[in-house]
Amino acid sequence: MTYDNCPNCGKSLNGFLSADLILQSKIDFINKHLKQEIAAYCTSCSKQPLAKIAQMFKAQKAEIEKRLKQIIHTIPVMSSPAPVKWDYEVIGLVNAQTTSGTGFATELSQSFNDLFGSGSAATNKKIANATDKCKTELRIQCVRQGGNAIISTDIDFSEIGSGSSNMLMVCMAGTAIRVLDMENFSAKSRDTILEITELTEQLEAIAELAKA
Ligand SMILES: [Zn+2]
Repeated sequence: MTYDNCPNCGKSLNGFLSADLILQSKIDFINKHLKQEIAAYCTSCSKQPLAKIAQMFKAQKAEIEKRLKQIIHTIPVMSSPAPVKWDYEVIGLVNAQTTSGTGFATELSQSFNDLFGSGSAATNKKIANATDKCKTELRIQCVRQGGNAIISTDIDFSEIGSGSSNMLMVCMAGTAIRVLDMENFSAKSRDTILEITELTEQLEAIAELAKA
């Protein structure tokens, strides 16, 4: 559905300084919490309803963040393209970088010298942590743009610095998509993905409130 004017406030959506309609996931979020059924909102008229909803959740911010951390991994991050049977929209590139602590090179050489020693276990753990952080970041970016999966993800490891002050940098980039038929996910994942979207909207609304 395309509109020339915002269905809620009537503001023009064409032209240089015009408003834009907000994401469908945000429209659904506003309608759900304010028990309305408005077709769409624009960047201008969505501010007030979002602020109103944020007030309802503000006090639970810590719990919302905690829960989101527990379930965010349900958003798939795949290195392959999307499965052929999936019906989806491409949202765009998402990318993230993390750097591990110092002294990485020393540990890395240790793990080559002693392949099964404790050094390699510590290094592996650092890499795993850095990789997990990147994946979480990709997932958050994806959900904030209305997506629910990341495909064609590429991961790069590089060293920065020299000598014993080396750090490991992990870079990850993928394509955020919105899978249109939620039946492609398992029943359990479906509910969790909806919950992730809801919690992300809540946190975004609260963050906007803090800025205002
Ligand atoms: Zn509007």
